[in-house]
Amino acid sequence: MVGSGIIREIRSYHLDSDESQDAVVHDFGYKIIIPGLVDTHVHINEPGRTHWEGFHYATRAAAAGGITSLVDMPLNSSPVTTNVAALEAKLRSFKGNGWVDCGFWGGAIPQNIDDLDDLLDAGVLGLKAFTIESGIDEFPEVNAAHLKQVMRKLGKYKLPLLVHAELRDSYTEHNVPETKPIGKSYSRFLASRPKRWENNAIKLLIALASSNNDEGIFTKLHIVHLSSSDALSLIREGKDTGLCISAETCPHYLHLFSEAIPDGNCIFKCCPPIRDSENREHLWNGLAEGTIDFIVSDHSPSPPELKQLESGDLENAWGGISSLQFGLPLSWTEAKNRGFGLSKVVEWMSINPAKFCGLGKRKGRLAPSFDADFVVFDEHAEYVIEEQNILYRHKLSPYIGSRVTGMVEKTFLRGNLVYSNGEIIGSPRGQTLMNQNFS
Ligand SMILES: [Zn+2]
Repeated sequence: MVGSGIIREIRSYHLDSDESQDAVVHDFGYKIIIPGLVDTHVHINEPGRTHWEGFHYATRAAAAGGITSLVDMPLNSSPVTTNVAALEAKLRSFKGNGWVDCGFWGGAIPQNIDDLDDLLDAGVLGLKAFTIESGIDEFPEVNAAHLKQVMRKLGKYKLPLLVHAELRDSYTEHNVPETKPIGKSYSRFLASRPKRWENNAIKLLIALASSNNDEGIFTKLHIVHLSSSDALSLIREGKDTGLCISAETCPHYLHLFSEAIPDGNCIFKCCPPIRDSENREHLWNGLAEGTIDFIVSDHSPSPPELKQLESGDLENAWGGISSLQFGLPLSWTEAKNRGFGLSKVVEWMSINPAKFCGLGKRKGRLAPSFDADFVVFDEHAEYVIEEQNILYRHKLSPYIGSRVTGMVEKTFLRGNLVYSNGEIIGSPRGQTLMNQNFS
């Protein structure tokens, strides 16, 4: 039973019983109903780079993918979300364009560290920082001293610090190794972003968080888009020693693997890179053991010309994978093949990310008092992903031609049908998810 967008009651359904007569009844047959997914890592490039993709296209694709809540990254819009004015610009862009609910991460850069309180007070759900260049000039990386300061600031708010964790090797000017040009070679691209960079960044972050903890400053540290399976033991150790550390990975690291990636096809380029099949299996083990907490898309679209599709130039192509709509079938296909049940996938794609971003009392579960966000899912449907199915702006995907299992048939946002069998329904009813609204 749903009322005013909230789940009021869950009870057995009897076709002939009188007690159901007072409600509109939707009968989904034997299809499974799962909670709407929560994707806490989505790059919506509006305002400023709406031609890359804006709220309209991204949130429609989200609805089609069974995602009812997403959290926007503070780049690659222009301005980047590193101050209150930029957040307000985001909110104006979202208004009337959101087909699903949306929260916002703020950005921490060297230039705004003293002003982060304003951004946090304005309702961002936490802060994102980079330990390596982000690819966007206005969003430079931070160093260890900055990170320590940001962690201290966030401790007061009990909000997470999300980090793109790759750290370049440090060399003296006399000791720079020779590097081969990458060109179209995927193996050279892969070698140019080694696992070691991820491991080193994560080591540094854990050391900083631990030292804050020792000083009694609570630090909630989150590693975004983990690709290096070598870092799993570091994260496990951090968790075991009582550190509040979490990690996410993405469908591209769980589905794709480097041995099958052809040279000169930049559609597969992302950072950190997609690694080999053995690494992929270790990531699945990391999920199974709870070392990796959840799965998010890291949907990062761009216009086709930036992906260097004609030249195949992996060095200069934009790094980012478009996948918002297909995370559930891709993850379910791979999970099922490894013997996991659908309930595990729901835990990884709905329950855990909802809790992580502070929405754990409102999203991620089918239970009384939770938002009536749910998906009618055919767990058995098999099909091939085709370009014509894509609802996001630029129809690029490394998954076109992939056979998957699991079809989102309908998506409901707070009790309203927003997607049904290939069609977006109604009007944009998405609401903003600001920190002060659900604490
Ligand atoms: Zn990202």
